[in-house]
Amino acid sequence: MSFSALARGAAMFCVAFFCLHAAAQIDQTYARDPKQAVDQDYTQRINQYTTLPELNSPLTNYLPASSTVPTPQKVLGDVSGAPDILPYAEDVYSYFRMLESASPRVKVFTIGHTEEGREMIAVAVADESLLKNYKENDARLAKLADPRTINMNDATAADLVKQSVPVYYITGTIHSPETGAPTALMELAYRLAVDDSPYIQFIRTHMITLITPVVEVDGRDRMVDIYKWHKAHPSENYPRLVYWGHYVAHDNNRDAMTLTLDLSRNVLNTYVGWHAQVLHDLHESVPFLYDNTIGDEPYNAWLDPILTNEWQMIGWNNVQEMTKFGMPGVFTHGDFDTWSPGYLMFMAAMHNGISRLYETFGNGGADTVERILTPGEYSRTWFRQNPPYPKVKWSQRDNNNYEETALLVSLNYFAQNAQTFLNNFYLKSKRSILKPNDSGPAAYVLPANEDSKDRQRMLLDILRAQHVEISETTEAATVSVPVKQKRDKKDDGSDKDTKKPEQPKTESRTFPAGSYVIRMDQPYSRIADALLDRQYWAPDDPQKTPYDDTGWSLPALFSVEAVRVTEPAVLKTKMEIVPEGIGYGHMGGKNSIFVIANHADPSLITLRYLLKNATVSVADAPFTENGQQFPVGSLIVKDISYDEMMSAWGKTPLLTTVGLITPPSVPTHPATAPRIAMMHTWLGTQTEGWWRQALDKLGVPFDYINTQTVSSEDDLRSKYDIILFAPVGFARTAQIVQGLPMWGNALPWKKTDLTPNLGRIDSTDDMRPGLGYSGVDHLRRFVEQGGLLITSEDTAQFAIETGLAPGVSVTSHGDLKVVGTLLSTTVVDPKSPVLYGYSKPLTVYSEDGLSFNVSNTVGGTRGPRFGTGDERPTGRGGPDDPDTPQGRRYIAPDEQPKPKTWEPMPLNEEQTRNNPNVIPAGLRPLVLLRYADQDSLLVSGLLDHGNLLAQHAAVVAAHLGKGLVLLFANNPIYRGETIGSYPLVFNAILNFDHLTSTPATPQKTTGQ
Ligand SMILES: [Zn+2]
Repeated sequence: MSFSALARGAAMFCVAFFCLHAAAQIDQTYARDPKQAVDQDYTQRINQYTTLPELNSPLTNYLPASSTVPTPQKVLGDVSGAPDILPYAEDVYSYFRMLESASPRVKVFTIGHTEEGREMIAVAVADESLLKNYKENDARLAKLADPRTINMNDATAADLVKQSVPVYYITGTIHSPETGAPTALMELAYRLAVDDSPYIQFIRTHMITLITPVVEVDGRDRMVDIYKWHKAHPSENYPRLVYWGHYVAHDNNRDAMTLTLDLSRNVLNTYVGWHAQVLHDLHESVPFLYDNTIGDEPYNAWLDPILTNEWQMIGWNNVQEMTKFGMPGVFTHGDFDTWSPGYLMFMAAMHNGISRLYETFGNGGADTVERILTPGEYSRTWFRQNPPYPKVKWSQRDNNNYEETALLVSLNYFAQNAQTFLNNFYLKSKRSILKPNDSGPAAYVLPANEDSKDRQRMLLDILRAQHVEISETTEAATVSVPVKQKRDKKDDGSDKDTKKPEQPKTESRTFPAGSYVIRMDQPYSRIADALLDRQYWAPDDPQKTPYDDTGWSLPALFSVEAVRVTEPAVLKTKMEIVPEGIGYGHMGGKNSIFVIANHADPSLITLRYLLKNATVSVADAPFTENGQQFPVGSLIVKDISYDEMMSAWGKTPLLTTVGLITPPSVPTHPATAPRIAMMHTWLGTQTEGWWRQALDKLGVPFDYINTQTVSSEDDLRSKYDIILFAPVGFARTAQIVQGLPMWGNALPWKKTDLTPNLGRIDSTDDMRPGLGYSGVDHLRRFVEQGGLLITSEDTAQFAIETGLAPGVSVTSHGDLKVVGTLLSTTVVDPKSPVLYGYSKPLTVYSEDGLSFNVSNTVGGTRGPRFGTGDERPTGRGGPDDPDTPQGRRYIAPDEQPKPKTWEPMPLNEEQTRNNPNVIPAGLRPLVLLRYADQDSLLVSGLLDHGNLLAQHAAVVAAHLGKGLVLLFANNPIYRGETIGSYPLVFNAILNFDHLTSTPATPQKTTGQ
């Protein structure tokens, strides 16, 4: 840092401090450097593209000139935010690399690649002295981030804080239709590197600004393609961005828990690797600037209160300063609750930093258009005293003005208070380590004797990716753990707790050596605690519209035990930190037959498809080999060389595998490797994208087809054994069948010279046509000819409503409230191959509480109830006594059948006589899995009026001709979180031609 820069910075500090409290001095605070020339042409264009003077600020209504450093104009051909210009990621990067060559204040780093191989970058901007020594600075920040390295010594920390500058990490365009951030960040970097105004100088001399201009790079390039198509066809409707990233769209901002996407891991590794203090993510959906960090209640229960105070400080300062600029529509409180840790920015909140998020106003492209707001957007509220205008001509430049101004205000405030925030960073890290002895818990223990090492390893892999340390015990540990207690329920069916919980009773529990321990005395204990704990959202919480899922407890979703231990003594157990690559299995001898236990391990399907040339069969009964129990559904592999087997097993090492010389004596059926098609609609590909991602990650081959293919393909059965129709996401059956309205122009999604990034995953000349009635008919024939159709949520509803699932109906919702809740289920048909390996209650994810009823007749609901009057009328005796008529003998009626909630109403002879709707006994729907009883239904999240869901069918197999339609009321494959329910789908795949060979559950019928 040069002497003059330092002196000016120091002088600036006093001015800024004073000015925060004195509006009269605004001009002074934001004064330009009078000695620095202004880029007149660039400045003129900024003002020309800004639609109203008040939609800009003294910070961004000019651009300082530089004789050496290029402005964004060099790459864009016009200024940042100019109309009609949307750069590809590559162009954005080339600008940052130009900046790097021209200025010692800019450094560009590659931080990884996307699923489609595109580069992701982070750009550091700071004074040359800071950038030259950024590694030394980082070494100090690393110590503050892990106070164990300085023996938790506050005095040492204070010295480190004094010598260090913070890192503020800004991420742009995770959401591809939110297009403004890249150009705003290009110009922001230029300003930070070039502008000599005291306000900006202070920032670059007191902190490092780190910028990832494009987070969703694959989606950005597709969005630019769409925009180019739009400009080439100005009077036509343009295609919606049906694919953003390779797998998911908007949900890329819900991946911060399981980190399944490359962009999530790249951003987290950058944030943690730089020991940054802030992760600030830029979005565009709310007029004109919603600094949504403060958001609304409920706040995530695992946050450090120091952080929630920091949110308030920075957020309200933002509103205050921009209000002084006279910029309308800036506010910070709003309808975003801060409960779920799935958002990208929340990586910081869960790793001792500060999460921040802006929603600015965007036009989904670079057109300047008149925007008409809704009353909810422009009304004045207590937190939005200066609301946005009801109607406004809005440009991308306006958006860039708001984004840059707000960021500069935040950066300056952060720089002014750098020491406070660095000290807070240290304190939050230290408090994370002190957890066992204050809030607790002390640790989570994942017992060594977990049935499925495969699922357990998948959970540990996520924790490791979250930079959490994992230890393995070398001796047994005995601790006391709470005994699970039942909750009392009110009779009205509501799930509000009526009784205060009693003091928890405890029991002693011993964990064998080899158990995994997630210690809470480590810097990133907070994320581990948040992921491994359970969530409770009170039914009468004042927040009536949860922003996202209300429950996410990963052990429940992975069906893996993780015991919350509060006794700090557990940490005294002998244990070692597990290095990369967790515990591998053993297999001795050169065997020729291999048996693999089925504990509902997701990797079983990986193994099956790796063993293309082997003979694989499925055990129809449990057996024991080498003292090892093998449950029904275990795999037996023959006709394979030892080396081939070892190579496959190397990729699925945590499956319980034993090599044998002679096959076990147990009845089997063949496990073919069936041919799978995944069918998607052109309405939305996100929710199915999570299925596609799971299949890809687990090495399950499939053809990716769409509803239009099925509409024209009349012999699906000759090509496929299984069609997966994963959820579309709130699609109505009519939409799936009809698609988009056919008026207007065609909406192509395909690779052309104009749109080189479209059509790579799937393509069509026109996205509008849906499945059509021919498609429904082709699906019906596919199943009737022995195919298996797998459906979930809205596609299960589609199957029911189009007659593909005779005897199944959707339960009416009533007052039931489920919002992304984790619910417990119970196995109904343990013989069904779909349920192989499931021996315990299974937790499933439910988006909104869908469940099914089954009937022995088609079109029926639960079953015919002829007339009412099932209840005892007024008469003699008590309610359970027969009411005997006077003057004749009493004739006792047959006892009324009382089926369970998930069972069909049995039919008597009267009801079946001459009734064409009666489904023949062997073809009636089979309930495989049902929701648990009400008192044990809720696992995590929000549940109200659970009695309307309790005991109802969750997974049903409906017969249609020779085939089956499998209906999931839950979503078994979702956001990389529902690992425990994946094998429901995989079991169905592996046993697709064997799902009906077990006799149907006996029906308690009096007739038929
Ligand atoms: Zn967004």
